[in-house]
Amino acid sequence: MKRSLRNHKMNLSTLLTLLVTASVILTLLIHTYSSYHSNKKSLVNTYLSLNYSKAEKMSDSVESLFNSMRTSLESTATFLEKNEKMSDREIFDQLELLRNSSGYFNSLSWVDEKGVVKAISPVSIGLKGQQITSGITKDVLDAKQPVVTAPYIGPSNRLIVLMNQPLYEKDGTYRGMIGGTIYLQEHNVLNQILGNDAIEENGSYYFVIGPGGRRLFHPESHLIGKSAYENPVVKKLMQGKSGMELVTNTQKIPMLSAYSYIPSVGWGIIQQTPYSFVHDLLIDQLQQLLMNVLLPFLLLLLFSIFIARRLAAPFIQLADLVSHLAQGKAISQTLRESLIKPHWNREADLLTKSVSIAFETLERNHRQLTENATTDSLTGLPNRRRMEEVLKDWSDEKRLFSLIIFDIDHFKSINDTYGHRAGDETLKKLADTVQTVVRKNDYCFRYGGEEFVLLLPDTDITGASKVAEKIRGQVEKINLIPGKTITVSLGLSEFPLHAHSLSELFDIADKALYQSKTTGRNRVTVAST
Ligand code: GH3
Ligand code: MG
Ligand code: MG
Repeated sequence: MKRSLRNHKMNLSTLLTLLVTASVILTLLIHTYSSYHSNKKSLVNTYLSLNYSKAEKMSDSVESLFNSMRTSLESTATFLEKNEKMSDREIFDQLELLRNSSGYFNSLSWVDEKGVVKAISPVSIGLKGQQITSGITKDVLDAKQPVVTAPYIGPSNRLIVLMNQPLYEKDGTYRGMIGGTIYLQEHNVLNQILGNDAIEENGSYYFVIGPGGRRLFHPESHLIGKSAYENPVVKKLMQGKSGMELVTNTQKIPMLSAYSYIPSVGWGIIQQTPYSFVHDLLIDQLQQLLMNVLLPFLLLLLFSIFIARRLAAPFIQLADLVSHLAQGKAISQTLRESLIKPHWNREADLLTKSVSIAFETLERNHRQLTENATTDSLTGLPNRRRMEEVLKDWSDEKRLFSLIIFDIDHFKSINDTYGHRAGDETLKKLADTVQTVVRKNDYCFRYGGEEFVLLLPDTDITGASKVAEKIRGQVEKINLIPGKTITVSLGLSEFPLHAHSLSELFDIADKALYQSKTTGRNRVTVAST
């Protein structure tokens, strides 16, 4: 349960990698986002100002055109007023001259105060002699002053704008008017001045707004004469304002629109670029930007991941090492040395050093504890537990060895006679004595009480008998208690000569010891095969 929980936790290296990846990607996104927005702003502003300067220029042109048209109508009217005796034919010639020389008007007419068309150029219109009794033309006539009309369907059934100049005799009698028209849906002075190819490659175009928000010129000719008042920019124009902004036009298309009002005539020019054009430009720029920054960002990402992994590595190794330790697993010296090494990162280095110190302390304590657990405190000899370990190793290795069990004779009476303390001293001295007799590779254990066991590696029973005899003789010789001869009895067996199992080997040696005791003590008995 605990293990599976642990496995669900995120590895430091994965965590750092994710963190680094997330920050690099986020940086890239922020960079892209902010450059998209600043580009958008500057492109929008550029196109708005570009359109505005075009609209201004056009409105200047239209304004001066309008002034010239007005002047030409006025001078013709003045000329006619001065020459009251002119025949209809001469007036027609005058109108014809003005129309052809200026090219301002599609038609020019003289309408008398009753509405009768006295002269009209060109003749082909065929209105000469007819009387106009109603409609906007009649209203203009009756107004008796100069006006410019909104687009309307004139007497010749064309969509027109009418500009007039009233005629008066010297005594102030009203004599009708000179009227000049612009045929909005035909070739006229407006599109001649402003240009016919109204739609540019990027979708930009202009149109002209007249009184009432009606279109005087538009690249889509079916819209000419119709109102565009719903367009917020047209509304502002009609309020006499000029400016620029992003608007949605009457066809629901977002436009970067600039508008310029022409005060003298009350018209306006709108020059606009579809926002989609700027949007496409932005997408192109964005793609270009991404192409340019992707490789550096990828390299940055790889480098950061590399550093992050290098940074995480010592922590992960230490965590694994400590976790190994916590699970009580053995850690080889080489593995330890490979994991615990100096690191360029300060914290990793400090941690590694601390773990190394903790590790050594732990090992020292462990060694000490193990030693304590396997050492007899009185004699300093390894104890029975240690003996069992050694025996197990040797029998696993199928090693040849001999076993000697020996026991102090009548030790109880020593205790009884000289006291327990003297008994302890005797045990100590005996242990020292035996260790001086045996070889370096031999083991001497305190088996329990006053019984000892010797393990002699690679020694057969003959060799072991000699060692046993030497011990017996030595113990007898040195007075372990002054003035008192102390002896030991010994029993021997050989592995695997006498037994194939350790317990059997022990039983056999024990029996031999028992035989030494029963046959008079202070002797060596070899187990019989
Ligand atoms: P035997 O010759 O048959 O071996 O006689 P024995 O008296 O030596 O044998 P027995 O097993 O009757 O007595 C062993 C005595 O050893 C009993 C116990 O008090 C004593 N003894 C065991 N361990 C210690 C020890 O650590 N210190 C002391 N002073 N005496 C011990
Ligand atoms: Mg005993
Ligand atoms: Mg004894």
